[in-house]
Amino acid sequence: MATLSIHAVSKIFAGDTAAVDAVSLEIADGELVCLLGPSGSGKSTLLRMVGGFEQPTAGSIAIDGQDVTRLPPEQRPTGMVFQSHALWSHMNVFNNLAFGLKLRRRPKGEIRDRVEAVLDLVGLKGYDRRMTHELSGGQQQRVALARSLILEPKILLLDEPFASLDQHLRERLREEVRDIQLRLKITTLFVTHGQDEALSMADRIVVMRNGRTEQTDRPEVVYRNPLTPFVAGFIGTMNFIEGRVETGRFRHADFAVDLPVADGPVTLAVRPEALDLVPADGVRQATVNRVTDFGTHGLVDLSLSDGTRIKSLVRRPEPFHPGQGVGLKPRAFAAFRDTVKLYGAIDAEPADQH
Ligand code: ADP
Repeated sequence: MATLSIHAVSKIFAGDTAAVDAVSLEIADGELVCLLGPSGSGKSTLLRMVGGFEQPTAGSIAIDGQDVTRLPPEQRPTGMVFQSHALWSHMNVFNNLAFGLKLRRRPKGEIRDRVEAVLDLVGLKGYDRRMTHELSGGQQQRVALARSLILEPKILLLDEPFASLDQHLRERLREEVRDIQLRLKITTLFVTHGQDEALSMADRIVVMRNGRTEQTDRPEVVYRNPLTPFVAGFIGTMNFIEGRVETGRFRHADFAVDLPVADGPVTLAVRPEALDLVPADGVRQATVNRVTDFGTHGLVDLSLSDGTRIKSLVRRPEPFHPGQGVGLKPRAFAAFRDTVKLYGAIDAEPADQH
């Protein structure tokens, strides 16, 4: 049971620009928050400052209202799981897990019970005598997680813990970690550059860019109502179409749509699932490049007359074929002028007519 408060935290490495730039974030008790952003956006640095592995240049960090900004890692109530599991290869699983408790001089019986309980929690019951090199990558990451959890931290910190695992295993471990986190109700900060990971696990997502937070919201809000073009483009697939608004209508050579904003250049952001394809009217049209049938739906790749490539998700791909001219009808969209959002929430279900 713990809250985490990050207040105006910055980190400037010697002579460099800010790796983390005045980030503030309040994480509620039991919440799982993902830091999501491209490589170099400051995610790990922020996480490491919470764990005590880096000192902030400015700002403060508090856990349950207690300032921990200047405490070394071992004096913080945090447990960190790194990308590379860093287990002790000369020790078996039991000793890897018992190590921290032995340092704390816990009684033998208690250590045995806690190792058993945590192995059960991560799905490795009976693995205590295995050497760590006898374990698969996924099992090693489970042991690394168990090694953090056994010390009962108030805050769990995960730094791309599944990055070295294959896709299938990553998806499974993602679900397991979320299950464990919900069961223990442990406040968790999780770094990832994978949007699927963030969308599927997080209570809230913090989208980071250049050391700053671009948007902090629930996954569905970040997906449906991105506040900046960067967030719109970073999460999910997004079509960006450049055009002009004149007297309340967005105009592009290939289509037009009502848009009640001031005249001027506008970038329309439309999800593939919100972009309907309609019969071409002969004048305004896009051209189909490629059609992919995914069984449950189809994805139509199109070119606009200005060379822009876009995608439309359709329920049935059969009516479409390469070279075909089609009309475009965006059902839901956002509109940006430079980085300013002028209009819209990208909130649409695939249409029934597909
Ligand atoms: P992310 O986790 O989003 O990939 P990082 O937090 O690792 O980003 O890095 C943010 C920025 O800080 C990058 O420009 C990186 O080069 C820089 N950086 C990270 N660690 C150090 C360090 N120990 N010394 C100097 N620069 C660093």
